[in-house]
Amino acid sequence: MKYSTFFFVSGLLLLLAACVQPSAALSDTLKGDTATQPIEFQATMLVPSITSTITHTPTATATLTPIPTATRTALPPTPTPTIPTVTTFIADELSPIVTPVGYLADTCDYLENRWGRGKSEPGTIVVPIMFHSIAKPGRVISDATTISTEYFEFFMAYAEELGFSTITMDELVGFLTENEKIPERSMLLILDDRRPGVTELFMPYLEANDWTLTLAWPTTEGTNDELWARMESLAESGRLDVQSHGHDHIYIQDYTPLKEIEEEIYRPIEVIQTHFGTTPSAIIWPGGNFNEVAIQLAKEAGLRFGFTVYSRGPLMFNWIPLGEAEMEMDAPLYVLPRYWSTAADVALNQAVAISEAAKQAANGVKADELYYLEHYCPAIKRD
Ligand SMILES: [Zn+2]
Repeated sequence: MKYSTFFFVSGLLLLLAACVQPSAALSDTLKGDTATQPIEFQATMLVPSITSTITHTPTATATLTPIPTATRTALPPTPTPTIPTVTTFIADELSPIVTPVGYLADTCDYLENRWGRGKSEPGTIVVPIMFHSIAKPGRVISDATTISTEYFEFFMAYAEELGFSTITMDELVGFLTENEKIPERSMLLILDDRRPGVTELFMPYLEANDWTLTLAWPTTEGTNDELWARMESLAESGRLDVQSHGHDHIYIQDYTPLKEIEEEIYRPIEVIQTHFGTTPSAIIWPGGNFNEVAIQLAKEAGLRFGFTVYSRGPLMFNWIPLGEAEMEMDAPLYVLPRYWSTAADVALNQAVAISEAAKQAANGVKADELYYLEHYCPAIKRD
């Protein structure tokens, strides 16, 4: 009696073990999902093929010849395994009105670049900072965008002390699209408008630290030859990364004629090519104004990014902090935020805190994400 019960239970366990192996054909259902949309599915289970029937007849003498037994109706409910969900990291340090948004539609592409060899480590940040005037010592500052020479010097030293370095706009393209390797703490120092004097103030720091300054340069016809010559000569140092800031610095509105918007988008590309021999890959929206038409034209013109004047947070791979106005555009890369120079040290501190938290979060989900990559992504692109 005892033995027959033992064999009966063993037979059942063997059968159960066979039942919890999920079908190998699951990955086909996963194409086209996104990082923000968890996928649910019902796994197809192997059907047990045991067909024997219950025939054991225990006797008082307990003969040791039981037959393993099972019927399909004796099986417990089918277990349903769930795919690990690939989520967007939430940073407590962001303002409550800011939401981090991903922009890559394919989860497998994202994970391959996130965990691939030679890529930027999770937690790698880019801090775009918008500069305007730097007041000469002793000058009273009466506007919201000017910083003192003292604060400027403090900030440049502080950034260096925290281990920050600069990247160019083209490096940002590589980082945001394929997570190409950049320094873990990166900045884009962006100087708005035509400010040769301020550009010159940056120069010694750029040389000393091997940094670059990104110019948001309006290419207006009003630029005289002397100014062009001065800027071209500064650019020869290789320290300037000239990007578009419109042609006539028009604040684009919904009523702005299409022709004017086109001029703002297309004209600077040619003028920058003529004077600096480089092609801009970003537009820094004049006045911070953007709309859907302008974004569409920027895409068509081959520009990869647009920058606003909203201070939202740092950039990470497939992670852009946005407010409501930018989210409405449904084009995160064309409404990238910028911190303001007036609180640039606070920006660096916040960015570092977010970087550290993102690193920790990445470690927490690494096993799940690698499992996803291994089991649900086609292996063609992986080595
Ligand atoms: Zn401007």
